Amino acid sequence: MKKTKYIFFTGGVVSSLGKGIACASLGLLLKSRGYEVTILKLDPYINVDPGTMSPYQHGEVYVTDDGAETDLDLGHYERFINTNMAQYNNATAGQVYYEVIQKERRGDYLGATVQVIPHITDVINEKIELVGQKTGSEIVIVEIGGTVGDIESLPFLEAIRQFRLGKEHEDTLVVHLTLVPFVAGANELKTKPTQHSVMRLREIGLQPDMLLCRTDRLLPQGVKDKIGLFCNVSANSVIDALDVKTIYEVPVQYADEGFDQLVLKKLKLPKNELNFSGWRDKVERYSKVEKEVNIAICGKYVSLHDAYKSITEAFIHAGMENNVRVNLKWVSTEEIGEQSVKEYLKDVCGILVPGGFGERGIEGKLEAIHFARENMIPFFGICLGLQCAVIEFTRNVLGKKDANSTEFNPDTKNPVIHLMETQKSIKRLGGTMRLGSYPCNLYAGTKASQAYGMNEINERHRHRYEFNNSYQKKLARAGMVFSGLSPDNKLVEMIELKDHPWFVGCQFHPELKSRLAKAHPLFREFVAAANQFSNKLN
Ligand code: GLN
Repeated sequence: MKKTKYIFFTGGVVSSLGKGIACASLGLLLKSRGYEVTILKLDPYINVDPGTMSPYQHGEVYVTDDGAETDLDLGHYERFINTNMAQYNNATAGQVYYEVIQKERRGDYLGATVQVIPHITDVINEKIELVGQKTGSEIVIVEIGGTVGDIESLPFLEAIRQFRLGKEHEDTLVVHLTLVPFVAGANELKTKPTQHSVMRLREIGLQPDMLLCRTDRLLPQGVKDKIGLFCNVSANSVIDALDVKTIYEVPVQYADEGFDQLVLKKLKLPKNELNFSGWRDKVERYSKVEKEVNIAICGKYVSLHDAYKSITEAFIHAGMENNVRVNLKWVSTEEIGEQSVKEYLKDVCGILVPGGFGERGIEGKLEAIHFARENMIPFFGICLGLQCAVIEFTRNVLGKKDANSTEFNPDTKNPVIHLMETQKSIKRLGGTMRLGSYPCNLYAGTKASQAYGMNEINERHRHRYEFNNSYQKKLARAGMVFSGLSPDNKLVEMIELKDHPWFVGCQFHPELKSRLAKAHPLFREFVAAANQFSNKLN
């Protein structure tokens, strides 16, 4: 077996420099040179996973096939390197401490005083080794969340220092992502923030091998020399990470900079041929697409697009395959009422209601769905979106005005959506939903089966409630099609409407499996339907 090499990514100066995208982009380039690559995200927060965190604070919770609720960066990793991630690709300080405390309670430490060094750092290092072992990857990229200087990330950085001690020099690499701002008043690029951030890193005993510098303009050689001198790296290891228009251009820019080649040289690995033209062409072609289609996302966290990260990315992939630019219009359903719905949605060619929890904004979602259904506007309901579509149809087509989900009204006489049997005895919130990949059978001849081009699919779930089967017959008679069911026929996973050009709901989250290399079929077909709708309008 080949030796595994490790690339550690740390972040300096400010957050939001795009460390996740940087890791994913380098991963893609190394994979495009024939290497087996995987990525581990280490999150310094104490939550065991982000599953219980508010999307306002943490953005989307990304769910893997094996049912882990993880950081949204794992979505970028999957979308870029086109490989499925798993539980072991994400570890938090909470998980690490939890494991150590459980060992202590069992008596595994045989009376020793349990400390950050070595007990916490040992577990961190075990998690780093585990990813390589589980995936058999030749290169493991490790992203350390947060910014150097944060108290929380100290045990992680210390663990890496120890990890490197146990390896050959050429088997590990530290890449520090930093910011080189242009200060207009001085008409100058400023290197001081980078110097200070590297200083903090070196105080902890980590010397970066490469500096990846976020900048709005190419760094002149003089600036690179200066950064190199003050940060103790060679000037040719100071790499420009230029601002680009879309995240998908980042790997293209890195390839042009030769970032991946330098990484391989430092790891003493052969360069191999770069097989990257598919990605490059797709990104270039898409940058020239002019036609725009407006699609509304009617949800709760619309001011915070990170809460729907995978959905926005899935629309880019679907736009690429349909040769249109999807213009997303974010509509807060708390603002939509029966009268105002038309004002908000009159200029859109597609309406999407995404997943969500809790009652806030539900009535507005129902108005948006009603509007889509009656005006024959393509509609796509995801998870809560499917549940709302069922409620709307039962209320307005079957005339059962109090139809609801027991999540919002436990006493409704018409609980068309109710708690899954397996959820009824569950009291703890963390990690207890129906999570991860489940099979689903599609009915031939439905829009669902046409989109997928097959009748057996697997999709990822994250929910507690489900469709109440006692309403199936009545709804079917009124025109609702139950196009996807679990293999035992017990759970409705997909619905659509007979007399509508494109009205589809799914209980799973298709956005989690959309990739640039292959848009998700449901997003692709939804955008195609929206494009057709816009052609008719014009
Ligand atoms: N709140 C709903 C449920 O738990 C929908 C969840 C979701 O949209 N992910 O079933």
